[in-house]
Amino acid sequence: MPLTEFELISRYFDRPVRRDDVALGIGDDAALLRPPPGRELALSTDTLIAGVHFRDDFPPRDIGHRALAVNLSDLAAMGAEPAWAILALTLPAADEQWLDGFSTGFFELADAHHVALVGGNTARGPLNITLAVAGFVPVGMALRRDGARAGDAIYVSGTLGDAGYALENWRTADAATRQRLLRPLPRLALGMALRGVASGAIDISDGFAADLGHILERSRAGARVAVERLPLSPVLHKLDRSVAWRLALSSGDDYELCFTVPPAREGDLSAISARCGCALTRVGEITAGGGLQLLAADGAAITLERAGHRHF
Ligand SMILES: [Mg+2]
Repeated sequence: MPLTEFELISRYFDRPVRRDDVALGIGDDAALLRPPPGRELALSTDTLIAGVHFRDDFPPRDIGHRALAVNLSDLAAMGAEPAWAILALTLPAADEQWLDGFSTGFFELADAHHVALVGGNTARGPLNITLAVAGFVPVGMALRRDGARAGDAIYVSGTLGDAGYALENWRTADAATRQRLLRPLPRLALGMALRGVASGAIDISDGFAADLGHILERSRAGARVAVERLPLSPVLHKLDRSVAWRLALSSGDDYELCFTVPPAREGDLSAISARCGCALTRVGEITAGGGLQLLAADGAAITLERAGHRHF
């Protein structure tokens, strides 16, 4: 007999809550939450659709991880400390094996970051996973897209292009590179460490060039980026440079952070890099205007055929 919505939620999603800022979690018409005083609430939502945002044959445990990870990445980009999540799940059928895998992957990541699932709903239809996540940031300390100024340095965390490489070379990619696509790690510790240091930040979901472009647009600024400085994993280093650069510049799904730092604060970054356990690479600087200039080692301009993923 198929599970009712109530049975499905209680079996797979109603976990004991270990946060004392949750007065009432799953089971009523709405959750009751107690945001801490002196904090702003950072609130974000993202939808994942089967066949659009993930391959149909991804293991459900990875889909559960990924659905939460891409949402938490937006909180990381704001410098927020994650707290709560709400899940709206549309499923073709109440497939218990799928639900078991999905909820396992979801809660593994949720538990690692002390995120409580406090509500949601389920419906029948084509597979669609919509999450809303909430986190806290001290008043006025959020990392925003509109704070970059001419002269600020541009940095990225980790390496770029690996998830795009895995998507294009699924059958031949090694396990570590596939993990970059299946199980992105939201840079939450880095985002929090960059409060008061970074002048602007965004997470790289659509591709480095497109996402840096969002900072430039909101900050009304331009940028010069030295393409040979883009951080590449050993797998991408072995590729033809034009292929590696295309992936690093325009493939999405890396969920690294791209951020800008005033020259006076750049000295803070080596300690932050060590503390957060991730490489931080300076790739260029913000300019007063001129759009996004991509430069080769000899100073020649590089054109980007496909400036990142477009949703529509
Ligand atoms: Mg984002």
